Amino acid sequence: MEAVQSLVGELGRKVSIVRVRLRPAAERAVRRGHPWVYAESIREEHRRGEAGDIAVVYDRNDKFLAVGLYDPMSPLRIRVAQLGKPAKLDDVFWRERLREAIGKRSGFESTGTNGYRLVNGESDGMPALVIDRYAGVMVMKLYSVAWLPCFESIAKGLPGEAVVLRLARNVQQAFADGGHVDGQLIVGEFGADHVVFEENGIRFRSDVKCGQKTGFFLDQRENRERVGRLANGKSVLNLFSFSGGFALYAAKGGAISVTDLDISEHALAAAKKNFELNSGVNCPHELIQANAFDWLDETDASFDLIVLDPPSLAKKEADRENALRGYRRLVRAAIRRLRRRGVLVSASCSAHVQAEEFFRLNREVAAASGRPYSEVERTQHASDHPATFSEAEYLKCIYLRFDG
Ligand code: SAH
Repeated sequence: MEAVQSLVGELGRKVSIVRVRLRPAAERAVRRGHPWVYAESIREEHRRGEAGDIAVVYDRNDKFLAVGLYDPMSPLRIRVAQLGKPAKLDDVFWRERLREAIGKRSGFESTGTNGYRLVNGESDGMPALVIDRYAGVMVMKLYSVAWLPCFESIAKGLPGEAVVLRLARNVQQAFADGGHVDGQLIVGEFGADHVVFEENGIRFRSDVKCGQKTGFFLDQRENRERVGRLANGKSVLNLFSFSGGFALYAAKGGAISVTDLDISEHALAAAKKNFELNSGVNCPHELIQANAFDWLDETDASFDLIVLDPPSLAKKEADRENALRGYRRLVRAAIRRLRRRGVLVSASCSAHVQAEEFFRLNREVAAASGRPYSEVERTQHASDHPATFSEAEYLKCIYLRFDG
């Protein structure tokens, strides 16, 4: 293959290209629109690339196929940014992608919501990059060293007053070498460690600099709304509550009592603060610090509505069987704590557990309880969390009503 070809990006950044060819199955997958190429699927590369290089994929007939980000440190070696048409992947290109993604979310403001996802990685054409907005603070989370050369330029193009950088664990060392740390402020001024924002008119704090994800679980917004609508007159148990989002919606929706349960003291302190931020919401609010699995086995309390939203129980494929056992145990125990006409809201964010198998598991456990039940609803990703390929689909939720 020819020598390294270099381009000069619009804003003066030097961009180096790695030309690659793929094994047939990977070539077919990319042609169909799948954005990931693993290292072992690369048949030929004309040199070993570096972080920030651009991968240009040619097909078996030496025709241009796709262009993407090259990541020498990840088994996920190439993340396709554009298929079928060459592009420079410079600052101008990314800013256009950003503009499109932001444009798609323009409807949120009118719903009293200024906390939502602006960019959802590959599914918004910006692989391995997430941007969440919390009022005037943008949180940019990076999952690949491929962004090293241009993340600051993208950050400067973001709306709002400040940008906080969040780094996935596997890229923290590489960014540290360049002087960047997780939670660092990279644009603007913002001294606090949290931001107060609104979701459907309800106020929340997001711990943007060191909280889980980007500080809040924005992906559950639509399920929180549904729970709010179901809660009137109900006693509500919010298992794996984190900062109490579901409970606060339920309280606002007319619940007679809400209980947040989490293993983390920090999460429960955040839930308490979130309730304090919404002084108009008056509902008894109990906080329980416990391991949900053990607590469910030991308690004899019962509720009209139970939300079950555990953390990912399968972080990798090998965890799948254990995760399924964990879900079964939780669903079985939660159903026992449901009163007559009670509703169970059961969610999974494990990417390695498919939606269909999760829904089936819930229905099987419900049937095995011997209680008459009906399925109310199934939900998946919210509109600001689009998923354009199967690995990006992680969130699923089922609502079951028990009539007996
Ligand atoms: N439902 C939340 C998000 C849940 S995140 C929301 O809508 O915002 C998962 C939460 O589960 C975390 O807060 C974590 O502290 C908690 N957790 C993890 N393991 C737990 C366990 N065994 N028992 C109780 N809580 C647990």
